[in-house]
Parts: sequence; C-alpha cells; structure tokens
Amino acid sequence: MSVSILRGRSLSFREVPRSHTDEASYIFEEDGAVAIRDGLIAASGSFSAIREQFSGAEIIDHRPNLILPGLIDTHLHFPQVQVIGSFGAKLLDWLHTYTFVEEQKFADAAHCERMATHFFDNLLRNGTTTAAAYCSVHKTSAEAYFAEAGRRNLRMIGGKVMMDRNAPEALCDTPQSGYDDSKDLIARWHGRGRAHYAISPRFAITSTPTQLEMAQALKAEHPDCYFQTHLSENDAEIKLTLELYQSARDYLDVYQMYDLLGDRSLFGHCIHLGGRERAAMAESRSVAVFCPTSNLFLGSGLFDEDGLRSRGVRTAVATDIGGGTSYSMLRTLDEAYKVLQLRNQVLNPLKSFYMMTLGNARALKLEHKIGTLEQGSEADIVVMDARATAAMALRMETVNTLPEELFVLQTMGDDRAVAAVYVAGKASHPDFNGPKHLYRR
Ligand SMILES: [Zn+2]
Repeated sequence: MSVSILRGRSLSFREVPRSHTDEASYIFEEDGAVAIRDGLIAASGSFSAIREQFSGAEIIDHRPNLILPGLIDTHLHFPQVQVIGSFGAKLLDWLHTYTFVEEQKFADAAHCERMATHFFDNLLRNGTTTAAAYCSVHKTSAEAYFAEAGRRNLRMIGGKVMMDRNAPEALCDTPQSGYDDSKDLIARWHGRGRAHYAISPRFAITSTPTQLEMAQALKAEHPDCYFQTHLSENDAEIKLTLELYQSARDYLDVYQMYDLLGDRSLFGHCIHLGGRERAAMAESRSVAVFCPTSNLFLGSGLFDEDGLRSRGVRTAVATDIGGGTSYSMLRTLDEAYKVLQLRNQVLNPLKSFYMMTLGNARALKLEHKIGTLEQGSEADIVVMDARATAAMALRMETVNTLPEELFVLQTMGDDRAVAAVYVAGKASHPDFNGPKHLYRR
C-alpha cells in the first residue's frame, strides 16, 4: 500500500494542558510530518525521521501551516442548516417560530439529501471531520445523514430525534414509532463503515414519560450506541420541564429516572445545573456539552467550565448549529473564551485546541481512533493557516510562540484558515484538493 507524507508544523495533544505554557501536554514538531497508509497514520514525528522511514513516499508540503488532528463537534443539528441566524427569540420561542417550521421540510427525502450535501461540505470547510448530530424526527433525515457521511467516509455520530408532544403534529412520532424507527436505523447504520448511532430524544419537554421509557429500552438494548439530549439550557425550559415531570428532583433527574445517564451520554448545554445534578453527572461519567455561540445567541446563560470540571464532570465543546451561529470550531472556541471571561475563568489557547481535538475525542470515547496524530489513529487531519487573512498575517508579524499563534487562529480565524482537510487520508475539502496555496497561485 502506498504511503503519503504530509509535511508541516505538526501539533497533537497528550493531555489536557494545565496552562498556556504546559509543554508536556502536547507534541509539536516545527518541521514535522505525518505518514499516511491505508487511511491510517502510519507514523508521525520529525520530517527527517519520517522521510527516512518511508523513503520514496509522496510528500505533500504544507509548510508553514499547522497540521492538526481533524476537529470534532460534539453537538449540532443537521436539519437546522437554514435556521442559523434566526432573529429575536429565546429557546422555546425560537424552537416554535423557526426550528419546528424548518424541520418539517425534512419529511422530504430530496430536501434531506440536498441539505446533507451542504451540511457535510460546511463541516469539512471548517476542518470538522467528526460530529455528533441530531437529525429531524423523520427517519428519512437520518438515512440521508448517514448515507452522505458514508459516501465521504466520515466518522459521524447521529440519530433521529424522538419527540411525541409539545411540537407540531407533523414533527411528532409516537413512543412506539420512535422506538421502531430508531431500532431500524441502528440496525442499518450503527457500526456500518464509520457510523455510530445516537439515541436522541430531543429533550424532556418534547417527550412523554412513555417515550423516555422507550429511549431507556433502546439504550439498554444497545449499550454501545450514544445517547444525546438537551439539559438545563434556559430558565423557562427548566420551569416547564419540572411542571411536566413533577416527581423529578431536578431537571437531570428526569433523565436519571429512565437510566439515561452514562459515559456515552451527551447532554447539551448544562448551564444551570445544581449541586446534586453536577454530582450525578460526575458519578455517571456523563458529558456536559458547552455550546458557547448558541448560549450567547439565544441568551441562555454562561457555562461553568471550571465549576463542572472541578466537580469531576466530563465536558466537551460544540457548535450547536443552528442555535449556534458558526460551523467553525475556531469561532466556537473564541466565543467560549469570552463566555468564560464573563465567568472570571481563563481558557488558555492550548486547552482550546485540546478541546477541539483530543478532548472531544475523549468525551466520545473515540480517542483510540481520532483526535491525535498518533500512530494507528485514523488519518483525519486539518491543516491550518494562521496567516489566512490580511489582518491575521499582520497580527502574526508579532507572534513568537505556538500558544500565541493558536490564540490568533482562535480569535481571528474561521473557515478561511483551513488550508486542507483529509478524511481517512484522502484530501476532502469540498472546494479544493490538497494544499490550498497551490490553488491560489
Ligand atoms: Zn442543540
């Protein structure tokens, strides 16, 4: 099998960086290389060592750009690609006014297919090679999602939402049909190629107790599937949830009563959790997913990263398209930094890049497959250019260290900073193949 070598400034994390000077937390090669064979990383290290090990291999030169593991987005909504930027509402009104209208279009297979093409194009333009997405209530939306991800050989997580109340008739399944459709989709897609299924009741407000019992059954029957839902996003949502589930001690308890917590359970938002909820999240190894652009856009609140981490809660970070406002994990971490500033917490740039790569891979328990440049990992890779715009190039004139460069990328960068993206070793940017600079000349 032929080997190709990507040459550039390679960066991969080992551990969560404790500070912006924590050099033990990452592996960086100023003249680095990643050797790819059969879709996997055959080796990574200094260019001279890799070239010697694989003499005769094709070399793709990305210098002076950074070579990183592909970015990972742990929470977003496939049917909301045309909801982004909907004006003037908070969560519950936003759902009814915009989202539930748009999601009804996903009953149509042709619409699903067209949107799936755009969805994955936009992820790849932004260097995101793995994501965990909610599809619409319609089975056809999940079919289109997995089919398009499969065509592109992407490692993707997804599931149809289950919702049987408090939504338009056309968006409601029933406990039985939600169960049957999910079961069918799991049989068809989970473990096929690089696909993973996520059992996805939208949130407690749109699921009856009977539906959550069905979700519980699915989770028990398929312990290797993911589970995803929303939790503690805004005040009105929490109040309504507790009215609907009066025996619950708190919001998380609604899910806990149905055994939906666990180390493959992803809870979007988790902004207003109380002490008992935090302890239960930590104990069950559940993941709290921070969605900063969405939390600001919908005015939901400020995520407490340090508070959750210090109580042992696993956390991840995500765009939450289309409550979120950008597909870019760079834009997302920029807003995360600002949210945490308002909390008097400091998100250092090394930790930001850890979170988009190895951190999110660990949250998904996929760190043995993605999220690093280690030998044996799948060759999902993004190449980033910190001088992608005139303003960034000007700022980079005064940058001396790697953490400074990462912070410029995060603060000023977006899809324009993505110079190449590889999926299982194959150049996969929708607009150009291989290094972007070859296309500029
Ligand atoms: Zn969401």
